Formats: sequence, C-alpha cells, structure tokens
Amino acid sequence: MRCTHDGRVSILLASHSYRPTRAERRTAPVRGDERGSAAILVVGILVGAAFLIALLGAVGGTYVAHAELQQAADIVAASAERGGDGPGGEAQRLARSNGARRVRLTTAVDGRIHVVVQRAAPRLFGVPAGTMLEAEAWAEPAVVGVGDVGPNPPGQYAGPLQVVQGGARACPRVADAFNVMAAAASHDGVGLAATSGFRTFAEQAVLYAQLGPRLAAAPGTSRHHDATEFDIAVGPAGSPIHRWLVAHGPGHGFIQRYSWEPWHWGFVAGC
Ligand SMILES: [Zn+2]
Repeated sequence: MRCTHDGRVSILLASHSYRPTRAERRTAPVRGDERGSAAILVVGILVGAAFLIALLGAVGGTYVAHAELQQAADIVAASAERGGDGPGGEAQRLARSNGARRVRLTTAVDGRIHVVVQRAAPRLFGVPAGTMLEAEAWAEPAVVGVGDVGPNPPGQYAGPLQVVQGGARACPRVADAFNVMAAAASHDGVGLAATSGFRTFAEQAVLYAQLGPRLAAAPGTSRHHDATEFDIAVGPAGSPIHRWLVAHGPGHGFIQRYSWEPWHWGFVAGC
C-alpha cells in the first residue's frame, strides 16, 4: 500500500474515531451520491407525473369547455336559420346556459350569418387567467321573398340550349331575354357576363363535390337544372353591376332568386 494522505488510508490508521474533513465530505462519499441521485430521480419522476396529470386535466377540461361552447354556437346558428331571435332571445339564453358569455351575430358579404360565442377558459393548471375560448358557426339565412323560390319543375330541362355572353347556357327564350337585357346594360355602360347557367344533374354533382353543401345545391335541387337561371359576374352586393340589375333586371323578366346570392338571377316566366 502506498502511503498517501487520502481518506481511505486515514481510515485504516485512525479506525472508528476518524471524521472526514470538509473537503473530503464534498468529494468522497460515492455511495451516498448514488442514493441521493436515486432519490432525486424518484422525486423527479413523481413531479413529472403530477405535472403531466395536471396538464392532461387542463387539456381535457379546456377541450370539454370548448365542445360546450361549440354546441352553444351551433344552437344560435340553428336558431338564426329559422329566422332567429334577437339579443336575449331563447337561443342566446340557451347558449348562455351552455357557458357562453358573449354572443355576436354578424352578416357576411354573401349574406350568411356568422355566429361567434366566447367564454372564459376554465381555471386550470397552465391556462393563463383571463384566457377566452371562442367558437364559431355559420348559418344560411332564412329564404326571404326576393324572388320566386317555389319548387323546381321535376327533372332537368331537356330542350335546346343557347350560349350567352360569359359562356353560360339557357333555353332559347331565356337566352334571348338575357341578350336584350345585356344590350340595355351595355348602353348604360354596364357589362353583363353570365358565367354559369344551365347545369345537368351530373354537372351539379361535380360542383357539389367541389364546393360542398354550403355553396352549392345538392344535385337535383338546383334551379340551374331549369335552364332559366344565370350566375352573373356582379361582384359584391351593392356593386354598380348589381345595382343596375336590381334596378333593371325585373323589367327584363329577371329577378334575384335568393337574398344572399347577389349573382344568381332567374327568368320568372320560364322556358
Ligand atoms: Zn346560381
């Protein structure tokens, strides 16, 4: 054995009366370090698990709160589709009973109703105080009496078709009426282009698949099957072209079919 002045040698020499120096206590007790590390690891795992459980609880609680809020938004939207009720009405009371604190309805450019509801986030671990949850829903407004919205003739139009300015097709009588109207519009400095007209069931099915139920009628239910309808490039509601059509369309036999579709004009007298 080499005679050094480390702790081990001192133990041998000084037997049980030995006390390690402060420097030795800092560096020597290897087994103690291992026990300490194990304890820290266990505490770490427990803290980590507790954190994870709290986090999952917060995520779950927030998820449930948001689901309730979405339900509230859907209730208000469904009510708006049936004609709706004003602030403080039945739907909004229901929404508030589902946790909604703020209910806002606005009408978009295309006429659809945008419902936004908000509530404070539940007080849970990791969710900052004052956090608001928000849910939204869209409603198609109730059909109003802008034009003839009666049932379509059964089936699709099967007669001859004629193409008008803009590339859309219609039955000859409707196409002729459109051409007369377009000439009058042109005289007033307004260009009328019909971008879509008659559609077969199959063509409507393709459109429906592309645009979805919000923007396209289901095949068999669109008035475009009648060969009396045109989608005219008018821009947003209230644009110069739209204003011209509102003023002069009816005089040429055309009416805007739906309040929320400024572009869709139909020939009332049919083919
Ligand atoms: Zn249309």
